[in-house]
Amino acid sequence: MKITDIHVWQLELPLSKPYYLSGGRLKFECLDSTLVRLDTDQGVSGWGESCPWGNTYLPAHGAGARAAISTLAPAVLGRDPRALEDINRAMQCQLPGHPYAKSAIDIACWDILGKCTEQPLWRLMGAESANEVALNSSISTGDPDEMLALIEQARSAGYTVHSAKIGGDNTALDIARINAISGALPSDESVTFDVNRAWTPADALKVLGSVDSRDWIEQPCETLEQCRQVAKAVAQPVLLDECLHTDNDHLQAWKTGVFAGLKIKPNRLGGLTAAKRMRDLALSIGWCMHIEDVGGTALADTAAIHLASSTPEPQRLASWLGHAHLRDDPLEGQGARNLGGHCKPPELPGLCVEPDESLFGKPVARYR
Ligand code: MG
Repeated sequence: MKITDIHVWQLELPLSKPYYLSGGRLKFECLDSTLVRLDTDQGVSGWGESCPWGNTYLPAHGAGARAAISTLAPAVLGRDPRALEDINRAMQCQLPGHPYAKSAIDIACWDILGKCTEQPLWRLMGAESANEVALNSSISTGDPDEMLALIEQARSAGYTVHSAKIGGDNTALDIARINAISGALPSDESVTFDVNRAWTPADALKVLGSVDSRDWIEQPCETLEQCRQVAKAVAQPVLLDECLHTDNDHLQAWKTGVFAGLKIKPNRLGGLTAAKRMRDLALSIGWCMHIEDVGGTALADTAAIHLASSTPEPQRLASWLGHAHLRDDPLEGQGARNLGGHCKPPELPGLCVEPDESLFGKPVARYR
């Protein structure tokens, strides 16, 4: 089996309302997504998506994904899409780095592998059945009352696990946010406070030493070393997100011995192949993990949910569905969906998301 064609579409994905991170310094209103369809000489096609969360969240760029795919295409065409490790090695040789761009191609290869073997991806990733996955809300940064109102909205959609975005240079406001949210949650709900690297280590120590909350704290500072300084000194469990890119980043984080978990995101790591490798590492060393993608349509979400569903509890924490934040839904009804605070991956072979490409207009590129 050989890859014969790569079709690339660009999707503008407006958010249903502006979204703020990192104490409000980062604002997001529209995502730039890239969808790819790989065709093969045996008539089987696979879909993948690369959608950075804007241009300021990670070193990833919507237009950059399409430029990178034009560079990657000669290394991918003619290869067997089922040979995931070989495809990934070929992409890394052709263009080191740029994992967000490779993610779409890697996910499409998994889709083809699933279709060829007539297996859903969660089974190829090790699960006996399509396990239900708890979902977490994503609460945009605001004043404590605004954030509590968003949590109430999320609760009405079934969410009992929340990710509240805090951080900024006003440490008193962050203390107020943590105290208000942690104090208001009923005992059957939980929250992670996601700082999105906004604090200096000094800010982090000041805030976390002033609150009674022992909820998870996510990516308090910019770098791994700054996060280590914080995690070794505070009582709250700390998990990492934005500072993890390569396998070596994960090994360095593990060597510090102070972190309790991580976020695994295919788009940040380079696709499902790399995400599964880090999932397996996290399982073996005892880290807890959230598995979800960076953003995008239900296609990217569903890819991540296949991996999450195949990850055993209790190390699997909740997952997030980015498509819930979009104004429009180009894959209406397909893939992993919020069913009252939980979701399940599809049971049919492959990724089991088949976009209606007539909705996307002409491809912006085709390689053959
Ligand atoms: Mg995060």
